[in-house]
Amino acid sequence: MYHEPLYRPPAEANSLILQITLGCSYNKCSFCSMYETKEFKIKDIKKVYKEIDTLSIYQDTRRVFLADGDALSCDTLFLVEVLKYLKKSFPKLQRVASYASPYNLLEKTQEELNLLRVHGLSLVYYGIESGNHELLKYINKPMKPSRMIEGLNKATKANMKISATVILGLGGKNLSKQHIEDSAKLVNECEHINYLSTLQLGVSHTKEDTFFKRFEDKNQDFVFCSDKDMLEEQKRFISLINPKKPIIFRSNHASNALPLKGTLSKDRDELLEVLDEAMEDNSMLRPKFLRGF
Ligand code: SF4
Repeated sequence: MYHEPLYRPPAEANSLILQITLGCSYNKCSFCSMYETKEFKIKDIKKVYKEIDTLSIYQDTRRVFLADGDALSCDTLFLVEVLKYLKKSFPKLQRVASYASPYNLLEKTQEELNLLRVHGLSLVYYGIESGNHELLKYINKPMKPSRMIEGLNKATKANMKISATVILGLGGKNLSKQHIEDSAKLVNECEHINYLSTLQLGVSHTKEDTFFKRFEDKNQDFVFCSDKDMLEEQKRFISLINPKKPIIFRSNHASNALPLKGTLSKDRDELLEVLDEAMEDNSMLRPKFLRGF
């Protein structure tokens, strides 16, 4: 039933995965190889119902994740039908989540997001990647930070929870300062990001040429950050986060050298202390072979 490769956020490990789309409707970010082998497609609603019927043997299901890359690119009424059918099929359902690209949140009106929330879509996973506009152009996700804030605030206004990610090392050593400062600024300017994670840049060999070429075209040398550089970035990032409402912070992605968890700003000092210790003591870091590098 599943069309591989299939991805889901770490927090959806125990969720039922329902693949209503294949691939990503954008599929052009220079660092992302997740859906490079897939052509974007929205499944026929009858096929989706059939798959839900098959999965409904799992009657204890409380959480469903709508895959693949940006299920929110589907037409709102299609999504409402899927959400209604899920509710009918799984009596204990408490949460439906999906990835949302910056484009998806901007394309949906406030009323559409409200409607999706009413029908059960309560959490969206959103890749900020960076709050630096130039860097977003280099990685071919040329979204203005102010537009990202607009989209994220629409989701918050619809009462959806947001889980957002920033990629450490994305600007290499040369753009590190701007990348981290602007990413923290973007987070601070949002009404409420509920969950925030950092992950570490890893560029697959199939994407390396495209990734580097976009920097070269702008006369920028890309110098990879080491684990230590990325921990420095993480330190700076955490120290600059000053949110309007508390944020649950996690670095629990497979790529992270140092798993961290806490609430920002409350646990800022403790998180910074752990980072200082890890920078002194490499044995606290997860070896690269355990991180898929
Ligand atoms: S929008 Fe997300 S899934 Fe699509 S190419 Fe970019 S990073 Fe990958």
